[in-house]
Amino acid sequence: MHELGLVSGILDVAVKTAREAGASRVVSVSLRIGDMAEVNEESMDFAWDILREDDPLTAEATMQVEYVRPKSVCAECGNEFEHDRFHLRCPACGSRETRLVAGREMDIVSMEIETPDEEDG
Ligand SMILES: [Zn+2]
Repeated sequence: MHELGLVSGILDVAVKTAREAGASRVVSVSLRIGDMAEVNEESMDFAWDILREDDPLTAEATMQVEYVRPKSVCAECGNEFEHDRFHLRCPACGSRETRLVAGREMDIVSMEIETPDEEDG
């Protein structure tokens, strides 16, 4: 299940970013994941629930994922088209000479953190 590794990497970045910002906790993390990254949605949620507890900063953080449809450009006719993980052939001319331009991303789009801007006492 490679989702564990992916989520672990995302949480590392989130924790590091939160520390640098002096945050008291991470509230939520928004991700954009391409379908070509072959990520299973349920496995992502499962991995997130387990791994977020490794650090108190992320223990209650939520994850939002936007799944992106893969997109390719045909080298033969220049057609740009969306497709799924298994159909990479150009729908206009039938060529297999296509170049993936979107769909492998695995980005942190935004993060919501809480900072201790008001100290007690
Ligand atoms: Zn084509």
